[in-house]
Amino acid sequence: MKPSIKALILLLGVFLTFFYTTSLTAQSRNFTVVIDPGHGGKDPGALGASSKEKDIVLSVGLKLGKLIENNHPDVTVLYTRDKDNFVALNQRASIANKAKADLFISIHCNALDRRRTSPQGVETFVLGLHRSNDNLDVAKAENAVIMYEEDYSVKYEGFNPNEPESYIIFEFMANEFLDQSVQLASLVQNQLVTNSKRVNRNVRQAGFLVLREVAMPSILVELGYISNKHDENYLKSSSGQTSLANSIYNGFREYKREHDKKSFVFSNGNASRSSAGSAGTAATVGGKEYRIQIFASDKKLENGAPEFKGIGPVDHYSDGSLYKYTYGKTGNINELKGELREVKKKFKDAFIVEFENGKRVK
Ligand SMILES: [Zn+2]
Repeated sequence: MKPSIKALILLLGVFLTFFYTTSLTAQSRNFTVVIDPGHGGKDPGALGASSKEKDIVLSVGLKLGKLIENNHPDVTVLYTRDKDNFVALNQRASIANKAKADLFISIHCNALDRRRTSPQGVETFVLGLHRSNDNLDVAKAENAVIMYEEDYSVKYEGFNPNEPESYIIFEFMANEFLDQSVQLASLVQNQLVTNSKRVNRNVRQAGFLVLREVAMPSILVELGYISNKHDENYLKSSSGQTSLANSIYNGFREYKREHDKKSFVFSNGNASRSSAGSAGTAATVGGKEYRIQIFASDKKLENGAPEFKGIGPVDHYSDGSLYKYTYGKTGNINELKGELREVKKKFKDAFIVEFENGKRVK
């Protein structure tokens, strides 16, 4: 019996050492960013006079990844592709979701029909409903990649990239990550304009399927118009690609700095909240309350509107030009968890938001 106990202790020791080392590694790399160079392989993306979107975005994506890896030992960089191969759109999203990534950066180049004079400049997109037909056109062009995939209609639940009706799904959508996505988009766009001296075509919203599928803050950068002679010359030059990667990196670095500051405050805040909870005060301590956000829209809707799918009474609060619709109101977050499960059957992206003195804080 004795030798086997010894063996057991030895085994336990080995196990503990292993556990200790792996948890240390997990701790030292606590932020994951996924870089998604668009297109690849049989899908060249947009075509310029002498270059292809797939080559430009891969080069910029790899440069960006190196910058992050070299400067942030605590960040894990993953690529949806790091060579010239075809990757299905839902596969790109699943790489990010499986890794529980903290950020998703999709990189593309724009193009305009040859019959029109091409504009030039950079734009950074976040997921949402297009506010103009231009934005819808960009989303249509990028979403058309799924037509390279077999069974795309089944895989993407009947989504047809060319039909405007398909884009209605983007209208009634709770986007938990919109605030953070807009923050990153603004930082990156600002750097592309000031550091890389690109023409500013602003931060915009449109219905990109790839962003729809990822469960984290995400942006889609259009580095420039490959159909414009000046932009193309810049995009295909090595110095242009380096500068673009640097600018996206600078935006990322600022975002990460803010994120680190907030997560420090957040973990401290959590600690004090749980001690208040143990004192048995579930009521709205300090004016705190929780609601279930079901979706956001730029339309003002009345209670009982068909868009709410029978859920009510519904409240709303304003955020910029958006109405954010919520259901339920309580000081005890646990009371909402069962409700959330029910609401999610109708609005799968619903989530709990926190208010303090009538203002949303989380
Ligand atoms: Zn593209």
